[in-house]
Amino acid sequence: MKKIEHIGIAVKDIEKSNKLFAALFGKPHYKTETVKSEGVKTSFFDVGPNKIELLEATTPESPIAKFITKKGEGVHHIAFAVTDIISEIKRLKEEGFTVLNETPKMGADNKMVAFLHPKSTNGVLIELCQERE
Ligand code: ZN
Repeated sequence: MKKIEHIGIAVKDIEKSNKLFAALFGKPHYKTETVKSEGVKTSFFDVGPNKIELLEATTPESPIAKFITKKGEGVHHIAFAVTDIISEIKRLKEEGFTVLNETPKMGADNKMVAFLHPKSTNGVLIELCQERE
């Protein structure tokens, strides 16, 4: 893994949170994106070498809606940039981690992504992401 690419934060109201985090960072988010397949609306902030991704559910079945019901708003996942997501998935499976996506899927921000089950990572949802060419 190369570096922390971004940290995902689950929020109830992304418009409100965009203002809150803009005030925190001293600059506005630089893009928003809806990932229909995941039922999320996202926005991204550039913070030095890493990004912050805000996630709001667009449907009640969205994993973000379920997360907020269970745990409330807050840190949802940590995403690590990888150069070769396929071989990284294979390596992590061999290490005994539970990979939720055997085949990487399309995520926000032009990335191929895969998640590791938090049960196998001390309660932290881990996202692997590889920039699409
Ligand atoms: Zn993410």
